[in-house]
Amino acid sequence: MLKIGHEVVRPGAKWGDADVTIPVPEELETVPGIPLNNREVDWYAREYPLESINYTERASRDWSNALRDTHVEMREIRKEHDKLNRGLIMAGRATAELDPTVEPTGEDVTQKIKDKARELGYLEVGIAPYDHRYEFQSKKGFTFLPHAICLAYEQDFEPTQTIPSVDAEIVHSSTYRTQAAAGLELGNYIRSLGYKAHVIHSSDATGPVIPMFVEAGLGQLGACGYLLTPHQGNRCRLMMVTTDAEISYDKPVDYGIHAFCQVCQVCVNRCPGRALMRDKIWWRGLEKNKLYFKRCRPVMARYLGCGVCMKVCPIQKYGLKNVMEHYASTGQVLGKGTHDLEGYTLEGKGYFGPGEMPVFDRDFFDMPTGTIEDHAFEDFKSKARAAGGDISEGMLSELKEEMVKALSQEYDIVAMMDNDLNNIDADYI
Ligand code: SF4
Ligand code: SF4
Repeated sequence: MLKIGHEVVRPGAKWGDADVTIPVPEELETVPGIPLNNREVDWYAREYPLESINYTERASRDWSNALRDTHVEMREIRKEHDKLNRGLIMAGRATAELDPTVEPTGEDVTQKIKDKARELGYLEVGIAPYDHRYEFQSKKGFTFLPHAICLAYEQDFEPTQTIPSVDAEIVHSSTYRTQAAAGLELGNYIRSLGYKAHVIHSSDATGPVIPMFVEAGLGQLGACGYLLTPHQGNRCRLMMVTTDAEISYDKPVDYGIHAFCQVCQVCVNRCPGRALMRDKIWWRGLEKNKLYFKRCRPVMARYLGCGVCMKVCPIQKYGLKNVMEHYASTGQVLGKGTHDLEGYTLEGKGYFGPGEMPVFDRDFFDMPTGTIEDHAFEDFKSKARAAGGDISEGMLSELKEEMVKALSQEYDIVAMMDNDLNNIDADYI
């Protein structure tokens, strides 16, 4: 039995459930939250501010969406989701302008807000300062309120275990919509307490939100690039409500996850694209396992959004309490090496059990990169080179067409609203 360094007590998974105590073995203790160099975070935010990959990697996004739309069933499901989701995104945007409905009493309303959030079905709620250092350039000035209410909503267990699948994609989309509707309710409630509340849909996020969730004590960043929450790991969707309410901040927590991922490595070993990094590096002022975006997106595009790194995470499947208790008593990672945890099926490619990995052709990972204008210009240059420097009218008009398209999209932020911030955008952190 390993020596327990400290215990973390969290509210139960459902509202009204008893508190849960999670033992953290001494050998897994690092720091609360994530190792952080604030001077570096400040410097990167100032000198190299973040931007959404929906803009900076727009060429591959359009390529990926076109590829995903060749799956007829998914194309219809996505169309329906986009239609329903857009209304929720715009309703969230409208809340920025709404005034409170009463005068505030001045009391601290932290517990009232948290109770309401849990009653509305959120799995986790915590509060941190809204941190402008993690804002996309295109979202500067989008929200002015000083506090970030960080909210995680559970994604259903059963369909998630079938990842990658149509069922899993359906539940992924519907969880975004369900939590967005709950967020609008929470906003109404905060206004009824006398304060402003800006409900920010996860598809309309102002940047990578995970750093604020970690600061609010809701979990730690996993090697998979997702936030790992104590009850359901990465099997949840994240959104935020900003407010000026009278509240108290939560604190980051050391759940043992930062060190545990280095022992576990299941997602790293099972990722079909080999897109996850074994070792941690310092990136923009944080120590993390960095995701190789260019190895992930082609798999996501071809295999129903992939998500194998979510499915195979033992914390997602068994909960952190069980995983930590098992590790403390055996020194082993719960479920590692089993078909139950590690197995997955890629449509058209077959089943892959522990130790088995799909093999892809060399050109599998080829995709357009950068913004639409970057890609158009690269394409133009390679065609001109192939023609021995002879630039035809056809090449010029093709370039012009792409540039016009790119410039009209650059400021069309609404068209960019489909961030899946749990994973890919975590690459920015
Ligand atoms: S979603 Fe990306 S990182 Fe995760 S398992 Fe699939 S390819 Fe790997
Ligand atoms: S699978 Fe293991 S290494 Fe990957 S995020 Fe989950 S706990 Fe960390």
